Amino acid sequence: MLQDKKKKNSLILSIIVGILFALLIAAAFKSGDLNAGMLITQIIAVLIVLGFFIFFIILLKKLLPAPQPPQHVQVEMNTGIDKDFIITPTTSNVTFKDVAGISEVKEELTEIVDFLKHPEKYRSFGINLPKGVLLVGPPGVGKTLIAKALAGEAGVPFFYQSGSSFVQMYVGVGAKRVRDLFSKAKAMAPSIIFIDEIDAIGKARGNLRNDEREATLNQLLTEMDGFEGSEGVIVIGATNKVELLDEALLRPGRFDRRIFVELPGLNDRLEILKVHMKGKPFKGNLENIAKMTVGFSGAALASLVNEASIHALKQGKKYIEEEDFYAVKDKVLIGKKRLNTYSDKEKEILSYYQAAKAVIADWLGVDFERISLVKDDFKEEDKEIISKTELMSKIETFLAGRVAVEDRFNEKFSNAHKDLKKAREIALQMIKDYGMGESVVGDEREIAEILDIAYKETQVLYASNKELIQKVYEIMLKNEVIHKEDLRKIKNEIF
Ligand code: ADP
Repeated sequence: MLQDKKKKNSLILSIIVGILFALLIAAAFKSGDLNAGMLITQIIAVLIVLGFFIFFIILLKKLLPAPQPPQHVQVEMNTGIDKDFIITPTTSNVTFKDVAGISEVKEELTEIVDFLKHPEKYRSFGINLPKGVLLVGPPGVGKTLIAKALAGEAGVPFFYQSGSSFVQMYVGVGAKRVRDLFSKAKAMAPSIIFIDEIDAIGKARGNLRNDEREATLNQLLTEMDGFEGSEGVIVIGATNKVELLDEALLRPGRFDRRIFVELPGLNDRLEILKVHMKGKPFKGNLENIAKMTVGFSGAALASLVNEASIHALKQGKKYIEEEDFYAVKDKVLIGKKRLNTYSDKEKEILSYYQAAKAVIADWLGVDFERISLVKDDFKEEDKEIISKTELMSKIETFLAGRVAVEDRFNEKFSNAHKDLKKAREIALQMIKDYGMGESVVGDEREIAEILDIAYKETQVLYASNKELIQKVYEIMLKNEVIHKEDLRKIKNEIF
């Protein structure tokens, strides 16, 4: 093709040059003053001008970027084959053993494996099997690995697709891909469809219309509604931001199961490190490595192990040692800027902050299972009617960390922003929605007043619980987490 084009171009160029010469000679004859010397001078002049012209074109071609061929989705209309979208299932040999630190979600996962292995058992009891499971969590925490482990444990085909592969320029392509994927998966049922970054398809529709994405999303919904769970196809979607997903996806019968996968805590990091260090020669204590990697995801730990091994090998060592990990820690962090690892000082601030929150929440009856360095899971109220006192308790819990840290470090820190936002939101709701201020129609001043009162009350609570907070702080610093039962135990020891 390219050769043909070149030939054509040079042919056109020669014709133009020929015509120019013919014109020139004709003009010279016409004016009657043709002589050999003049003719040669004129030919040279034309050649020089032409030379400049060609030189200029070549220069332009070099400077300007080459035109890109149009992005074309290769759906051959006559055969219906979509060359860019290959649906080939894999058989996974990943098992739950390869996924460390998922004890909290293991039970749910085992249940799903059982669904896939024995769909007839459930069918005979008329039990609705899950069709869709959402794995929610930040990148690198093992969502894909979990989905693969499900397929591996159940021994079923695994269809992997990234959400973005459905989002195409041409209307209808995404929907067709969804249809093809489901029909293959159904044909090979029981099977697992895994859609990574499902938010690419399932983003809430909002005001901006995007016909293609909407058609794709609708097709996904249709497919999910169109089969029974007992057919043995389970769709697993992974996302970082469940709140961005279109509500329609989360309705019963679609992705109605959610499994939250968090950044690993201290113990989980140790387990993940063990999985990845298995069979490698190592001298040292992995616990120390787990301790220095707060905020690392499973993926970051895996790459840390790899880098440390390379480091040891380069040094000509027979064993990987702790210092190899220390030497490469920063290297692993570069390029993963969003990863939050904390310095010792930051760890102290966070530990004290969270410890105060745990103690004061417990005091005020705000329920939780555990509070870690990076996360607290306060139980959602399951009540229709909430009192002003209960809402104030919530606000005070969210202010506890700020109050405590300000007292201990004589400084305010930015880590409080999320809690402060929540406190403000509750105060706003109390005044504006629930009419819990002086008058039923509350104003800004009353919101500020509520927060002010809550702050002062929190300060009093903090002062009378300092000893307990100190004890919880020490545990938090060591384990990065405090469980409610442990907190109660320490409380009993003190009082
Ligand atoms: P996600 O899908 O959440 O972005 P992945 O499943 O792709 O994360 O994880 C990437 C890699 O990180 C995995 O292949 C594995 O090597 C490692 N990894 C992540 N989480 C774990 C874990 N819990 N146990 C063992 N390895 C893990």
